[in-house]
Amino acid sequence: MNGYRRNRTCSCARCRCSGYIGPLVLITLGVLFLVDQYTMYGIGRTWPILLIVIGTVKLLQWNAPLTGHVDVSQIGPGAPPPGGPNPGGGAPPPSDGQQVSNG
Ligand SMILES: [Zn+2]
Repeated sequence: MNGYRRNRTCSCARCRCSGYIGPLVLITLGVLFLVDQYTMYGIGRTWPILLIVIGTVKLLQWNAPLTGHVDVSQIGPGAPPPGGPNPGGGAPPPSDGQQVSNG
């Protein structure tokens, strides 16, 4: 084992691939139900396609490079997401030495 753990905030290829499996399973299920409804092939004969799709995504996921991967253990639970503490601009955080009172 290489100790890989998926990080939802990471944008490396492997983490992105692991996020594709849910939508692809839902799309495949929809296609299989359509095939069941409009062709002579029932869901009882076509369900292994779901396993093939899951296996293909897993294969792509584990062959995807880890370039730029941010490990979960490198960021604490309260740490800002990668890209800086304030990537979208906006108001700067209040300074510690001053109390701002309204009123
Ligand atoms: Zn990653």
